[in-house]
Amino acid sequence: MLTFMPRRKQLRMTACGGECSVKNKVYLIDVTNRDGVQTSRILLPKLSKTMLNLYLDEMGVYQSEIGFPTLKHEVEYINANLELAKAGGIRRLRLEGWCRALPEDVELSFRNCPDLQHLNISVSTSDIMIQGKFQGRKTWENVVESMCKSVKAAKQRGAVTVGVNAEDASRTGVERLIEFALAGKEAGADRVRYCDTLGVDDPLTLYERIKALAPAAKIPIEMHCHNDLGMAEAVSLAGAQGAIESGVDSYINTTVNGYGERAGNCDLVTTILALKFSHTLAGKVPLDEQLNLKTAWKIARYASYAFNIPIPMNQPGVGANAFAHESGIHADGALKDRRSYELYDPEDVGRGEPELLETGRIITTGEYGGIKGFRHVCDTLGISFPGDDEARRILELVQHANLHTQKALTDDELRFIATYPEIVRKILVVRP
Ligand SMILES: [Zn+2]
Repeated sequence: MLTFMPRRKQLRMTACGGECSVKNKVYLIDVTNRDGVQTSRILLPKLSKTMLNLYLDEMGVYQSEIGFPTLKHEVEYINANLELAKAGGIRRLRLEGWCRALPEDVELSFRNCPDLQHLNISVSTSDIMIQGKFQGRKTWENVVESMCKSVKAAKQRGAVTVGVNAEDASRTGVERLIEFALAGKEAGADRVRYCDTLGVDDPLTLYERIKALAPAAKIPIEMHCHNDLGMAEAVSLAGAQGAIESGVDSYINTTVNGYGERAGNCDLVTTILALKFSHTLAGKVPLDEQLNLKTAWKIARYASYAFNIPIPMNQPGVGANAFAHESGIHADGALKDRRSYELYDPEDVGRGEPELLETGRIITTGEYGGIKGFRHVCDTLGISFPGDDEARRILELVQHANLHTQKALTDDELRFIATYPEIVRKILVVRP
């Protein structure tokens, strides 16, 4: 992974026009539940999407792009998650929907999900996509106009924040990106998303482009980078640095374990690691201080389990070999002083505790479970019920949840089902 970052001074000229100390921050918007799940050949049940939102909230991630409010099979899940946030089950995480930058899509989003407060709307901005996709039916002017109308429609429907996504921004001229961002801002947009849709940018190029875009547009910029050249994190971080240096906040789009279209997206844990431990980035590109890296192990492992995709052995922070040493010189050095060969500790990413695996008799519960086994499992997890009727009601929900996920329910899933049964009931609804 490339980690080259141009050096810069702590004090610098900013978009505010004067010399001031670093005050802007990098926030994370995780898009696993939208970009991750739309990926070819990977699937995520709605209960698992909800669990990811819970883990992202626990991790202190700023926002989760939870899905498509225009897509029928997402509606019950999105509304249930919005209800969960209202009930206090999700505390800080902003739940945001994604749709095309078309006024009719925005209208449909709010008709389907009236409590939605955050929305990102997307449209292609490069000539190659405008010509290729719209085949002469839309011009650049139409694209900008449609985006502006969509922003206004979203704000009229009560959206608290709207992000405008420039799809294929990397193949769009900077002057056009400035025009797009300024028009969006004028219409009421809160952020512009720079989408490196093809993963074609490199760190230096994006840094320079953001240094041109941010001071001119003076609007917070999201970095949305794909990993086709293996540089998604490096490119996102360089863009974020350009935004911070220009005096605007930056929002890096991530996915858990880097899952996403083709070669994937910018990985959540790696991005946090880089901002915390890179010699050049740490301290100079301030990260949202709410982020708690200690939950990294838990969320990465859960996503791997839920998606049925193993974590590569050499994955930063959470791979099996991330803290393994065998060769003579390395093992000797690490044993004498772990700092010889480790940049950060296993505990920093929530590792280090031995995990117990039951090798003898075990009682599980699920799709065909009965009340005795269910009660036994709940007792071991510290879950209790006011009466037998309530226990049977939750058991029935557990049976359906297991049917829905098609894999053994985790302890946290069982706890969630027992704590928010009515919300889970809505999440499990499929109405074709
Ligand atoms: Zn994408």
